Amino acid sequence: MKLGTKVTAFSIVMTVSMIVIIVVVSFLSFRQFTISTEREHIASIAEIVGISLSESMLHNSVENRNDFLAHLASVEGLRTARVVRADSVSKQFGNGLKIEQFSDGIDARVMRDGRPYYELMEERDGLVFRGTLPYVATRSGHINCLQCHNAAEGTVLGAITISMSMSEMLRSAYVTSAVMVLAIVFFMLVMLWFLRRLVKPVITTAQDVQETVERAIQGDFHANIERRTDDEIGQVAVDLNSLLKFIQNGLTTISQDVAQLLQQTPVHEHENLLNSTISRVAGLIDAAHFKQAIEEDETKPEIYRRLSMVLQERFGINHFSIYEIVAGSNQMTPLMVDGEAGAPCRWCDPQILVHAESCRARRTGHIISSIDSPSICYAFRPANDAQDRLHVCLPIIQSGAVGSVLQLVVDKDDAGRVNDFLPYLNVYLREAAPVIEAKRLMDTLRASNLTDAMTGLHNRRFLEEFAETLVTSTQRRKSQLSILMLDLDYFKMVNDTYGHDAGDMVLKALAKTMQASVRASDLVIRYGGEEFLIIMQDATGEAADAVAEKIRVAVESMKVQLVGAVLQKTISIGIAEFPLDSDTFWQAVKYADVAMYNAKESGRNRVVRFRAEMWKDDVKY
Ligand code: GH3
Ligand code: MG
Ligand code: MG
Repeated sequence: MKLGTKVTAFSIVMTVSMIVIIVVVSFLSFRQFTISTEREHIASIAEIVGISLSESMLHNSVENRNDFLAHLASVEGLRTARVVRADSVSKQFGNGLKIEQFSDGIDARVMRDGRPYYELMEERDGLVFRGTLPYVATRSGHINCLQCHNAAEGTVLGAITISMSMSEMLRSAYVTSAVMVLAIVFFMLVMLWFLRRLVKPVITTAQDVQETVERAIQGDFHANIERRTDDEIGQVAVDLNSLLKFIQNGLTTISQDVAQLLQQTPVHEHENLLNSTISRVAGLIDAAHFKQAIEEDETKPEIYRRLSMVLQERFGINHFSIYEIVAGSNQMTPLMVDGEAGAPCRWCDPQILVHAESCRARRTGHIISSIDSPSICYAFRPANDAQDRLHVCLPIIQSGAVGSVLQLVVDKDDAGRVNDFLPYLNVYLREAAPVIEAKRLMDTLRASNLTDAMTGLHNRRFLEEFAETLVTSTQRRKSQLSILMLDLDYFKMVNDTYGHDAGDMVLKALAKTMQASVRASDLVIRYGGEEFLIIMQDATGEAADAVAEKIRVAVESMKVQLVGAVLQKTISIGIAEFPLDSDTFWQAVKYADVAMYNAKESGRNRVVRFRAEMWKDDVKY
């Protein structure tokens, strides 16, 4: 219920209640007052009647008493004046007038009890107040009753009944009440007018506040509530105006900062400033959590996997590719395609893999979107059944250059939604970029640490790091590893005769020869100066012997061209198998070394497989 209606309702209820109470109270008190006044009147009249009758008796004019009573009854306001004789009086003076013998129950009772009786009666012509009083014989009054009456002191000689009309009194009561009701109504109307005048600014200000708050909930914090009074209500208007201005300014600043962070346009006038800012901040917080998570990820593939999860779960994108630009080259590698790590390039011309410049996002460093510019990139090649797909390619900038490219492939129907979340996704990518770059640098650093610079082969540290993984995977697959230890024969002589550079050339040529003789999945490691280790996963037993022999022959026929000389060297190879020869990997390596020394001892340029007795025989180890 509105405040104005409440005030009116309150005034009406108050008026009606006051009218009822005052009318009831005034009627009751009027009645009480009238009754007690009328009692006194009746008592006085009865006294007069008594005295008058006594006087008449004394002066022998008692016969005229009826006229007296008739005259009395004609007095205004008096209805009846009647006297009834008691039996003792009738006995002494006769029955008297007929009217004096009439006795109703009340007369009889009053004469019997000697006590007056009063009654308010509703008669046909109006309200009547009747009083019946005993006429008691007394010697002590101003007339000695016992002078004439043969009666004892206190005997009831008769009853005097006087009745008076109350109509006049009732009319006065009605008139008084009507005047009072009118006065109350008038007073209450004045009060209502005053109250409404008083609450009007409260109501109007409250309505303004209500509208302003509703607008604020919709994100519009502009407020200009009029100050209508100088009291607290006026102050509320002023305070609310300044509070909303404060919020508006604060929110505008926050939203501008957030828009800057998102590289997005500020919130539009028609948008809900608060809701838009909340959702933008939520997007930034999500991106910050993402950054925290990827910082704690160990490897680059983990980061890309997490990015894929974000794309699928947070942004609802299932078709996408992540390409990495191969450092210092014009090549790109697909790292993640449609959530699958290492899957082949699916949405682009594979030409981009060897000619990264064909990728427009890679070349320009800009977002390339066919949502905004259809057919913008010639390299986009959707499958035949997905010709209507669109693409958005986002470059991930690392150290000022495009380090990776994220390509989203989207349905036409989804284009609007994708455009809306692009600024948020961009924040994710901006957060991810330095982390990916750091991981990339670490990978490069690690790779350089684990690679022998001269031959390009893995080094001994690599084996130390990789051994555990190798052993676990061998055990899990319940397969065997063949370990070949290789050492050039009389290599010192090369250095001594042709110099260290010539020795290096031989080592490089040897590395190439070994790599050419094994599969890509086999590991060729420069284990020491001119000692090499080859670990083969799928060639054991005779197959391993055959590979070793192939290497031996290849080295034997290898010619290293020097200035003025051609060098030809031989190699000795020892073979051991893990876990066939030893339960531990490193022991098997040692056995391969033992076998290699055996090859040296038994004439060099040969392949020797480890046998248990070699270990016992050779106390050196
Ligand atoms: P053996 O047949 O017994 O193996 O005779 P060897 O002369 O090859 O003897 P050993 O294996 O002990 O010789 C190792 C030599 O390899 C010593 C060292 O000068 C040479 N060497 C080790 N690393 C390098 C390298 O990086 N470059 C060159 N040029 N020589 C190296
Ligand atoms: Mg050696
Ligand atoms: Mg040697």
